[in-house]
Amino acid sequence: MLQKSYPYYLANRAVAANTDLEVLDKYSGKRATRVAFADAATVRKGIVAAHKARDAMAAFPPDARRNVLEHCVRRFSERQEELALALCVEAGKPIRDSRGEVLRLIDTFRIAAGEATRGDGEVIELDVSERARGYRGMVKRVPIGACAFITPFNFPLNLVAHKVAPAIAAGCPFVLKPAEKTPIGSLIIGEILAETDLPKGAFSILPCSNDDAGLLVEDPRIALLSFTGSLIGWDLKARAGRKKVVLELGGNAACIVDADPGVDLDFVVQRLVFGAYYQSGQSCISVQRIFAHKDIIKPLRKKLAKAVKELRMGDPRDERTFIGPVVDDAAAARIESWIADAMKHGATRLAGGKRDGRMIPATLLENVPHACDLYKREAFGPVAMIEAFDDFDDALARVNASDFGLQAGVFSARLDHAMRAWDRLEVGGVIVGDVPSVRIDNMPYGGVKASGLGREGVRYAIEDMTERRLLVIRSG
Ligand code: NAD
Repeated sequence: MLQKSYPYYLANRAVAANTDLEVLDKYSGKRATRVAFADAATVRKGIVAAHKARDAMAAFPPDARRNVLEHCVRRFSERQEELALALCVEAGKPIRDSRGEVLRLIDTFRIAAGEATRGDGEVIELDVSERARGYRGMVKRVPIGACAFITPFNFPLNLVAHKVAPAIAAGCPFVLKPAEKTPIGSLIIGEILAETDLPKGAFSILPCSNDDAGLLVEDPRIALLSFTGSLIGWDLKARAGRKKVVLELGGNAACIVDADPGVDLDFVVQRLVFGAYYQSGQSCISVQRIFAHKDIIKPLRKKLAKAVKELRMGDPRDERTFIGPVVDDAAAARIESWIADAMKHGATRLAGGKRDGRMIPATLLENVPHACDLYKREAFGPVAMIEAFDDFDDALARVNASDFGLQAGVFSARLDHAMRAWDRLEVGGVIVGDVPSVRIDNMPYGGVKASGLGREGVRYAIEDMTERRLLVIRSG
């Protein structure tokens, strides 16, 4: 059960502020709970607290950081079902997927617990020329300082975890602004962090307006801004001054199915269905564009359309539901209008149907004109499109003909094709033998082009949250 209301966390302490934010049940559209909503003065206090906590966090020993992260792993495990239900309600995420996200939250913190004590120093022989005789260098990584995190609605737990857990492992205090639509998950994380002995001021978790979040973006006391969300991230970067900026943004991910995919088409279909329609397509690496070799497109199209039509849509609390609601009416209307526009311009619908409020049936289109929004932009809904290709290099070029570049998937039995995809695709990651929608929480994850800047995946996030500090010793 959800609580009646949730406090926010300012400098490690729960505060039940007066100004409340309503969180809607995304399926029923009714109010599910309320959360405390921070004002500008509170956000400023969070910044001051994090800035002041820099030295204490840096001095908080690695084993103590690991203990905090392990405490979280234990407590998340104990509260798994409650966390899953919160996600299911606040994000409209089907309960089975919600449970999966809780398991990933636990993984991410567990990985971070391992990283906390790993150390990452190096010794460098500087003795590279006559001029440098007798010099030796050592490098250690020091925490960058106070961090600001801004997160999106679609993975309210695990995308928060991908910022918070590395920050604790790295020794950085932080202020987190969760998505207004889905703040509950982060506030439960806050409740569990408040049980630990993290130094005072180490963390604040403050649902607030986008305007007030601007304070986090612009304040020079914040050393790193890590943002996950839409293309607005680029505007925030332009306002961020000298701070380091990490952007994890959107995409319109593609998947190539080669003439011989290397596995049977039933498996390909099963993975495409997961990749395109999981969480109603509201994932940054959701399969949006499918390029299928002309030799296999006919049977693939038939099997895929059948599987898509069979997907069960309904209440996300129902264990059998695969397609739940999209996040709000505006998103549903936009997706519907993009589908209508593609069809007006000549696309064929292989599966799909009428929208009912926030519920959009899983939709598969063929031959969407490349000038349509549905092709060029990020759909972020339960919609995918398929088209045929003849030449593998042409398929690679079509994947690259996008502003985005997060991940791409390639089903191919040919090693030369797999290697060529890895060499040529303009993306952060190429997934061979599966859809682009695969993310394991310790892999480097992020995009190129409009899709972002920098990488997450605990260890890689820690790299951004630390600076190299060099020591040179002359001993001869
Ligand atoms: P969004 O950009 O609307 O919001 C993301 C966060 O930024 C929210 O907390 C929001 O309140 C805040 N925000 C928005 N405008 C702001 C402003 N002007 N100043 C300060 N804060 C602001 O994104 P969303 O709709 O919540 O999430 C969906 C988007 O996130 C999609 O584009 C998706 O691809 C992307 N995403 C990317 C990744 C990734 O890892 N690359 C993961 C998940 C989602």
